[in-house]
Amino acid sequence: MSLSKNHENVYVLNQTNQLKGLFTIIRDRTKPRSEFIFYANRIIRLIVEEGLNHLPVSPAQVTTAQNVKFDGVVFDGRICGVSIMRAGESMEQGLRDCCRSVRIGKILIQRDEESQEPVLHFKKLPDDIADRYVLLLDPMLATGGSAMCAMDVLISMGCKQEQIIFLNVIASPEGLNNVHQRFPNIRIVTAVIDEGLDDKGYITPGLGDFGDIYFGTKI
Ligand code: URA
Repeated sequence: MSLSKNHENVYVLNQTNQLKGLFTIIRDRTKPRSEFIFYANRIIRLIVEEGLNHLPVSPAQVTTAQNVKFDGVVFDGRICGVSIMRAGESMEQGLRDCCRSVRIGKILIQRDEESQEPVLHFKKLPDDIADRYVLLLDPMLATGGSAMCAMDVLISMGCKQEQIIFLNVIASPEGLNNVHQRFPNIRIVTAVIDEGLDDKGYITPGLGDFGDIYFGTKI
């Protein structure tokens, strides 16, 4: 895990051969959808595990079966997930696999056809979200418009930037700049930073529309 050279609070997974191999499969347009899902889930799991490293802990001592004391830690505070629909929902299972019975809220944001500005359409979040660490889920950070709209919603519900950890599969430099400039204290954990955006706002080299591939909605 390395800190992005350009941004404090942006954490990028170590670019190991394992991770590169997983990305080589999910970026390959010739691979069947079943492989995309399987290997995307593996990357998501790595991101969630890394995201959990950013939660606070307190010291805790246990006694092992060897009757020896072990100085460990326990997580402090409560968490919840919030997925930005629809692609963010692909990350929910990875979070559930690590955090048993975790509460997961949802936010639906869509672009206004005319202004092209992101607009909030729906939210359903735990009432006590201001008292929780929030793992915000969205796999593709392109311009950052939806992510920032979702962050505005969380802040309006009383969450502090320091409580929010944004979990992401592929980030564009533009998206990172935009989000980081507006919310410098929100931590961003991403698997990789790509080259940029194309003229349609897709991340390049990217992988296309994550939600369409994962949920099979574009044949
Ligand atoms: N959302 C996607 O699914 N892909 C992109 O490249 C950008 C946003």
